Amino acid sequence: MSDTVDVAVVGAGPYGLSLAAHLRAAGVDYRHFGMPMRLWQAAMPQGMFLKSEGFASNLSDPEGTHTLEAFCKETSRPYASNGLPVSLDTFVSYGQWFQSALGLAVEEALATGLTERDGGFELNLGDVERVLARKVVVAIGVEHFAYVPEPLSELPRELCTHSSAHTDLAAFRGQEVIVVGAGQSALESAALLHENGAAVQVLAREEKVVWGGEPLPLDRPLLQRLREPISGLGTGLGGWFYSNHPDLFRQLPQRTRVYRARTALGPAGAWWLRGRVEGQFPVMVGHAVTWAKPQDGRVRLGVTAPDGASRELEADHVIAGTGYRTDLTRLAFLPEAIRSRLRTVAGSPVVGRDYQSSAAGLYFIGPAVAPTFGPVMRFVFGTWHAAPVVARQVAAVSGRRPRPAVAASR
Ligand SMILES: Cc1cc2nc3c(=O)[nH]c(=O)nc-3n(C[C@H](O)[C@H](O)[C@H](O)COP(=O)(O)OP(=O)(O)OC[C@H]3O[C@@H](n4cnc5c(N)ncnc54)[C@H](O)[C@@H]3O)c2cc1C
Repeated sequence: MSDTVDVAVVGAGPYGLSLAAHLRAAGVDYRHFGMPMRLWQAAMPQGMFLKSEGFASNLSDPEGTHTLEAFCKETSRPYASNGLPVSLDTFVSYGQWFQSALGLAVEEALATGLTERDGGFELNLGDVERVLARKVVVAIGVEHFAYVPEPLSELPRELCTHSSAHTDLAAFRGQEVIVVGAGQSALESAALLHENGAAVQVLAREEKVVWGGEPLPLDRPLLQRLREPISGLGTGLGGWFYSNHPDLFRQLPQRTRVYRARTALGPAGAWWLRGRVEGQFPVMVGHAVTWAKPQDGRVRLGVTAPDGASRELEADHVIAGTGYRTDLTRLAFLPEAIRSRLRTVAGSPVVGRDYQSSAAGLYFIGPAVAPTFGPVMRFVFGTWHAAPVVARQVAAVSGRRPRPAVAASR
């Protein structure tokens, strides 16, 4: 394998880009594939804001210099570490700036196949190319794992879509839309639909909508700061533990990890979204969808109310803001021969403390490994753990010397 690179990185979202920054600085011979920041450009609605605070939305680089704050300063955008929601547009531009300022070459191609070969891997990129790599890091995020529960999943696409299918919710102007879910995606999609002239109602099986609290002042008395610390995943001891101690989280019993990875921090709406939802349009909590069917070009839903009563609702369209569930069988480029060797839990690969799966040389980072390292992996903040750990590990194995840091284009 003379033309073999040490590492192939698959995926160019926050995790892939952060890893590339660390690999480049460590002098590792790598190639990087994927569509930079694609989820954020192609699967989120215009007008959206991030739920994470400014300081918790930094991609990870070894020097810690290429922060969202540095980007905003350079481009004269407003920024605050806490209390000023980050717009989707700013975050996408930040990711692109991070890539170019750090000189990270990403080849815009998708992995279509992976085979084990000579102790390493052969990565197929469509009909275009085959790349030989000693190690492969999979950082494909959530785009393959959009989850629509039954019975909504049985509806045709013209009548029911996942929230990730829409970048322009103004397309629903003048239509009746039911949004299912009580998390940030569902609530923010509903607010944007309403603000863009759709008649919207939210349907949630949860008994109430949970709202995040407004950011706490940074200069609180010490005791309050100890009791309710501010962390990358919000305020409170739980968020602090998940944000700062993914290694300890990994030591928890598997059942606890799986449960916490799925349920911690949600579903909930951001503090700044509350006023755009409450009193603006109907939010029916405690309602479960029991059946769904098309009728005369519209959709009819059967729902059960909290008191057990059944009722029917009708709309032009249903948007399922029902999140993502990792399921490796949906990764078309991962063949059965490799998948069958992966230990999994809750559809996700089990990884060791270096993010290596049970197939030696194959690593996973990002939301797919939340059942191992915890809910922080579902957020950009988790790049600060995953990227340096994996880069250190592969650099140590390949024995490369660090490259000088790249100066930002400032
Ligand atoms: C609506 C919404 C709002 C969110 N808001 C926040 C927030 O405020 N704060 C926060 O921290 N997190 C938020 N998240 C979570 C967010 O998904 C993760 O934080 C982050 O995107 C994970 O980064 P990633 O690099 O793992 O994946 P992604 O950003 O999903 O990137 C995946 C990459 O993989 C590539 N890829 C996929 N398949 C292939 C293939 N076959 N070959 C090559 N490349 C491939 C894609 O092109 C892309 O480059 C939000 C998620 C959603 C859906």
